[in-house]
Parts: sequence; structure tokens; C-alpha cells
Amino acid sequence: MNFHVMTLFPEMITNAMGESITGRAIKAGTITVDAVNIRDYAQNKHNRVDDYPYGGGAGMVMQAEPVYRCYEDILHNKIKKPGTRVIYLSPQGKVFHQDMAKELAKEEDLIFLCGHYEGIDERVLEKIVTDYVSIGDYVLTGGELPALVMMDTISRLVPGVLNNETSAETESFSDSLLEYPQYTRPAVWQGEEVPPVLLSGHHKNLEKWYRTQSVIRTAKRRPDLLEHAVLTEEEWELVHRVQQEEAAEDCADSEKKES
Ligand code: SAM
Repeated sequence: MNFHVMTLFPEMITNAMGESITGRAIKAGTITVDAVNIRDYAQNKHNRVDDYPYGGGAGMVMQAEPVYRCYEDILHNKIKKPGTRVIYLSPQGKVFHQDMAKELAKEEDLIFLCGHYEGIDERVLEKIVTDYVSIGDYVLTGGELPALVMMDTISRLVPGVLNNETSAETESFSDSLLEYPQYTRPAVWQGEEVPPVLLSGHHKNLEKWYRTQSVIRTAKRRPDLLEHAVLTEEEWELVHRVQQEEAAEDCADSEKKES
């Protein structure tokens, strides 16, 4: 997977991606990250890339031409093949989720465009952008953090990036379920024991425990995900029991607050 990032702050990208698991993947050549400074494509003495918005209003807008020249350079001199997806990070885009990451992980190259200030001149967006993606319903200063969130998530799904290939498959959101709780040594911490089944070495019981805990956790924390989950009849009964218990607890809590 080759990530190409169009940005005004390339060091934000290279520094963050150069750490931990993504850093190791870059060293191993499993992924590459090319952070390209849009400012290098400005054609004026002070390398200015923004200007006042037509019609007035607060803030500045990134100009079309430097963004377009940067894109053309990446596409024609680096990727050298048409059809590469260009993702504009924007609070106005589709909200990023794990299935989108899975789909994007199949691409060989991805171009990310990071906006700043009030955003980017609409004309260049219309010309080059294939996907508008948001990381959530809030407004950040720039597109670099959202691009990093996306690249980190996608990288985990690229074969060879994680040591243990199965770990991405059992993580939260696969099968529309959250992952079961995790424990490590010591077996007793502050008087709290790890669930005995984890020490049993009994593979079948372990698998059953993982699955049950995933169902319980999802029912408690993200019941909305269950709409797309494929569960057995027994598991649906478990979901209903958990939800009844949660409702009873909520009821008891609000009675306590009122008294
Ligand atoms: N004026 C824009 C609006 O209201 O839609 C917001 C501009 S924001 C201050 C500057 C840049 O940050 C955007 O161009 C985008 O690249 C990035 N950005 C901000 N919030 C984001 C979000 N939730 N998801 C993805 N990108 C975001």
C-alpha cells in the first residue's frame, strides 16, 4: 500500500506514521508514506497558497492551482497510472468506519488531500476528489489528523503489517461485534483474578467465552451495531437478558438520584 498525502504540514504525517507498528511497516516496505508539501507548488515569491474567500466571510481558503499542480505531480511522476482514488478529508464527508477501511485497504495507492483554514477552492475538489471522508461530526483545524487516523486503520488491514494476521480479524467491528475483554499477567492483580477459562488452555471453551463476551459487550456498549450482526437464537436471548439487566440498572440509578 502506498499512501500519498497532500498537506501543508508534511512532518505531522511522517513523524506520526514513522512510529510504532506503521513505522515498522514502513521500514519493512509493506507500506510507503509520501507526504508532499502543497506549498512547494505555489508559484509566487512567498509560497502563498491561500487567499480571501469570494463573497467575504471569515478566514482564508486554500487556492486551487497549487493543490492541482501537487496532485498532477503525484499522479504523473510518482504513481504513474490513472484512476487512483483521491480522498478529501472533510467534516462534510461520509463518516469513516471499519468496512470503508477494509475496502480502501485493497487499493495499491491512495491519495489523501488535507485541507486547512476554511477549506479548499471547490473547483479543484470537483476536478480531482473521488471520496469525501469525515472522521466524525466535529471540526478540526486541518485534515492531517483525520488522514493519519485513516492511514493507521487501513495499514492494520494490509497483509504483513500486523505480526498476527488473525488479530485484525477478531478486533472490534469485525462481524459487527466489539472485541472481548483482554487480560495479561499477573493472573491476580489487586485481588482481582482473570477469568479462569483463560488459564484453562481448553480451546473450545475459550472460543465460546470470546464469542459470548463479544456479544455481551456489544449489547451493553454499542447495541446499534447488533442490527448488522449474525447471531444464533441463543445469542439473541443473551442480548435481551443483558439489555433487560441494563434497563433495570438504569432504573435503579435514576430512582437513587431522585431520592
Ligand atoms: N469550513 C469547513 C466546514 O465548515 O466544513 C471546515 C474547515 S476545517 C477548519 C479545515 C480542514 O480540516 C478541512 O478542510 C478538512 O480537511 C479538515 N477537517 C476538519 N474537520 C474534519 C473532520 N471531522 N473530518 C475530516 N476532516 C476534517
